[in-house]
Amino acid sequence: MLSYRHGFHAGNFADVLKHSLIALVINALKQKDKPFVYIDTHAGAGKYSFKSEFAQKTEEYQQGIARIWANQQPPIELKDYLAAVRAENTGKQLVRYPGSPQLVRRLVRAQDRLLLSELHGSDYESLQQLFAGDKQVNVAKEDGLQRLAQKLPPIQKRGLILIDPSYEVKSDFNKVVDAIQTAHRRFATGIYGLWYPVIERGNTERLLQNLQATGIPKQLRIEHCVAPDGSMRGMTGSGMLFINPPWQLQTQAETLLPWLDQVLTGGQGSWKVEWMVPESV
Ligand code: SAM
Repeated sequence: MLSYRHGFHAGNFADVLKHSLIALVINALKQKDKPFVYIDTHAGAGKYSFKSEFAQKTEEYQQGIARIWANQQPPIELKDYLAAVRAENTGKQLVRYPGSPQLVRRLVRAQDRLLLSELHGSDYESLQQLFAGDKQVNVAKEDGLQRLAQKLPPIQKRGLILIDPSYEVKSDFNKVVDAIQTAHRRFATGIYGLWYPVIERGNTERLLQNLQATGIPKQLRIEHCVAPDGSMRGMTGSGMLFINPPWQLQTQAETLLPWLDQVLTGGQGSWKVEWMVPESV
């Protein structure tokens, strides 16, 4: 049974990192006119309200997007991400937040497509309602990891695949590695973005080592920790492991992460941008 609901966590420090990097990748894909596909294997509800019971209970967004929203001088690297957040909020107050599907939907062009998978009944309903009648978006109630290979290679031959599990089942750590390996065999030129949490450092490093051991080239790790490892604060950090990232992403992340750390933790956190597997091995 799925108990994880992203509504409790929407807009937190991990979403800020994940969504700002996704926006940068989408921007890079748009540098060419050719259409691309965005595949979101774990799409969630699509968008979130900070007035909801979920968000009111945890208020995680207060330590995340609310701090960015209040900042007067965000870097250029946040331009598209913040434009999408602003588009959800008509006034000055921050009350709504785009999940990954709504963020990407706001950034793509008429020729691009979104394929979204979500298993949880009510999040799937919300997602379906959000994109009802939208010919650029396909929403399916399915196991996004299991179905990924069948969608590859996409007809567009270009795209970003976001793999964003909640890791509520420990086997997810192994499943994502298998799914990425299978997907990469079918679509080696795609951009893959895997989100991962830092809760127990050992689990995180094992996941990344297992991915490294696949030998898939061009693996870039981008991670931000808001507290030291194992400080009994639950999730102390999170990261994205990109395969085939756009060439600009490393430099953009090296500018963005110190800024995010300053604004989100007052410079008390830590970050890294490093190649786990370089261009050719
Ligand atoms: N990607 C979303 C975003 O950034 O806004 C957040 C997704 S949330 C971390 C993970 C979602 O995956 C949850 O809504 C959960 O119900 C869903 N889920 C869990 N296992 C799944 C599976 N095998 N296939 C599809 N969705 C799944």
